[in-house]
Amino acid sequence: MKEFKEYSWHGTPAVEDGKLKGKTDTDYFYFFCPKCEDTQIMQILDFRFLKKEPAKYKDKYRKRLKREFIIAFELYCHKCKLHDCVKVSNIGWQGGKLKNSIGLKIKENEKRMYL
Ligand SMILES: [Zn+2]
Repeated sequence: MKEFKEYSWHGTPAVEDGKLKGKTDTDYFYFFCPKCEDTQIMQILDFRFLKKEPAKYKDKYRKRLKREFIIAFELYCHKCKLHDCVKVSNIGWQGGKLKNSIGLKIKENEKRMYL
């Protein structure tokens, strides 16, 4: 299996635009493979804090914020071998309904690469 480089924590188009879904069973959350049918669970191989620091500012939506963080998860599907990445953070949308973020394309040097 290819390894993620330190700077490569960015998902591919396979997980973007709502294609990666998941669900809880108890209070654990599972990611479902976007390429396989049904609810094929992806294994979380690793995670990394890309950001973890005290909240820099507190506006109307962030007044209860304690820290700012971005956690990246390295995901792998044993069935189809999809190896990808997803991030969870509290520095983007803070509430309301999700709007399509197409147009916020990543810079070339931020794209995921493998060793
Ligand atoms: Zn799969």
